[in-house]
Amino acid sequence: MANIAFIGLGNMGGPMAANLVKAGHKVTAFDLAAASRDQAKADGAAIAESSVASVKGADVVVTMLPAGKHVLSVWNEVVPTMTGGTLIIDCSTIDVESAKQAHALAAKHGMLSVDAPVSGGTGGAKGATLTFMCGGEEKAFAAAKPVLENMGKKIVHCGGAGAGQAAKICNNMILGISMIGVGEAFALAEKLGLSHQALFDVASTSSGQCWALTSYCPVPGPVPASPANNGYKPGFASALMVKDLTLAQDAASAAGAVTPLGKHAQEIYKAFDAAGHGGVDFSGIIQHVRSLAAK
Ligand code: NAD
Repeated sequence: MANIAFIGLGNMGGPMAANLVKAGHKVTAFDLAAASRDQAKADGAAIAESSVASVKGADVVVTMLPAGKHVLSVWNEVVPTMTGGTLIIDCSTIDVESAKQAHALAAKHGMLSVDAPVSGGTGGAKGATLTFMCGGEEKAFAAAKPVLENMGKKIVHCGGAGAGQAAKICNNMILGISMIGVGEAFALAEKLGLSHQALFDVASTSSGQCWALTSYCPVPGPVPASPANNGYKPGFASALMVKDLTLAQDAASAAGAVTPLGKHAQEIYKAFDAAGHGGVDFSGIIQHVRSLAAK
């Protein structure tokens, strides 16, 4: 069992750190928020006084923070203080450029590093069923895999530095676009007098089939576990979808790719967010689609 430092104990990081404790690791945790530190303590982690204090003696360091600037700030603080050869894993969703800078910093100080953003949301974090999309050298990935297996069920090596973040934003761009598409189809079906169940029964077994429809259906009924059955909460907040679609657009601009539907999806989710629905599950975008028809 390893000595693991865990920095960033929010909605995702808190339960992920708890799963490392459950797996028998000695976890030393830090977060700026006192409430998050208290919860981690109750979950069995030792609490450090700072990020730098948390990495002392660690074999592995995990960060789970809001955005690239937080990751670079914490890595710049802790990496120079770590023992050479230590593995550092960032599980946050951040821009590809910051992820590459973080890897370069780790390499400069002789550390192994992996970018390992996740899919699966807070339910996956609690249930240790996350998917990890990993970028980094083979040796670093091999060292990270057994640690990530304590927090997830699928661990994919996507390529070199930043490849995990690239896979994450491409996947979430598909998700954002397809959820709007499914919402539009249900909104049209309503106008045409077609029942939700009838459209679901046909499209879920036809060429319109996709995850947004069959696992996360945006209307109540056909998929009982989808957030639509619970007032579009909890789930994956629309504000986080805006974040991921914006990361995809930034990456597309930097790489010279043109993604018109990704751009349009970003604008639609931004409008939903700006209207005060940032906390609503992203499948709630169907409400926005319906409201366009009413105008
Ligand atoms: P969160 O805001 O709940 O948690 C982030 C935590 O980081 C907070 O507790 C904050 O206090 C802490 N923090 C910020 N700066 C810090 C610093 N300098 N030192 C120590 N702690 C610091 O966010 P979350 O929902 O846990 O998401 C974390 C990451 O995971 C984000 O990048 C997000 O995009 C990604 N993600 C979230 C979900 C989801 O469903 N919530 C799903 C997939 C990926």
